[in-house]
Amino acid sequence: MIDLRSDTVTRPSPAMMASMASAEVGDDVWGDDPTVLRLQTTVAERAGKEAGLFFPSGTQSNLAALMAHCGRGDEYIVGQLAHTYRNEGGGAAVLGSIQPQPIENAADGSLPIDKLAAAIKPIDDHFARTRLLALENTIGGKVLPAGYVVEAVTLAKSRGLATHLDGARVCNAAVASGQSIAALCAPFDSVSICFSKGLGAPVGSVLVGSTDLLESARRWRKMLGGGMRQSGLLAAACLYALEHNVDRLAEDHENAEHLARGLAEIDEVRVQSQATNMVFAQFPQEHCVALEASLKERGILTQMLYASRFVTHMDVKRADIDMFVSAVKEYFAE
Ligand SMILES: *Cc1c(COP(=O)(O)O)cnc(C)c1O
Repeated sequence: MIDLRSDTVTRPSPAMMASMASAEVGDDVWGDDPTVLRLQTTVAERAGKEAGLFFPSGTQSNLAALMAHCGRGDEYIVGQLAHTYRNEGGGAAVLGSIQPQPIENAADGSLPIDKLAAAIKPIDDHFARTRLLALENTIGGKVLPAGYVVEAVTLAKSRGLATHLDGARVCNAAVASGQSIAALCAPFDSVSICFSKGLGAPVGSVLVGSTDLLESARRWRKMLGGGMRQSGLLAAACLYALEHNVDRLAEDHENAEHLARGLAEIDEVRVQSQATNMVFAQFPQEHCVALEASLKERGILTQMLYASRFVTHMDVKRADIDMFVSAVKEYFAE
């Protein structure tokens, strides 16, 4: 199968499985799983932060971070397209009693500075207390402009807000932009990093930040059901991913460019954007269902919508992309 639906679909490689099988484990709720501790320290170091905390998912890592930053009746500023706002079931509001203040993302994924400034509420009994700015990098595959991040975070800090980065794909941002992971994380008080996306681990995210903040996040993690036991098995996969699968993301980015070039040759398809490992393209609405079925028959999994997203990852090779593009060409030729 060639699966272009997401970079979450990668299967652990035999070498990754071997590192899991040989992992030294303990009980992480008791704080004595050596592999989890090593992962947390290693990721914190790479991100230039004091401490790290291992989570079963990015959703839980983001939520625990939001709950560590904000109390009941506080508010966080976030993009309309941000994962924490749009794709996490409204957890901040439902489970955290945190009011989201969404702002429309600009085309480059940023939240326009003037809109940000206007959304920060004055201290007044009428308003929720604006506590936090949450950005996402990459967002829709795009790397946030470095100058923009500094400007947004400077504004947030000047108004007394904390800052969180949903850095699920911050490694893609680092490889694409040539900045270090630490440089991309530096402006933020906390960053959540996913290992189950392009890095190829089966499960896992690490939240990094100050020791104080993570102490609070650790409490929320337990309450949210994320206290795991012999989770060194999973942490070993993440350590393997960090060691072996970061630099190779460049290959996924090149493959996404190749995919975009291929689709652009097809009259019926309108390629909207390509950045890092993602391609967004529009297909004629009336063909979406039949095209998706036709591709599936050939062993190619996609989610064909009027505006579709294709994601490259370590289990998709250059030849697979050629096969996909040929299959789309053949479909429209018939
Ligand atoms: C995948 C993802 C997450 C976390 O998702 P989980 O599936 O819960 O691990 C968070 N933010 C972004 C931008 C993501 O792509």
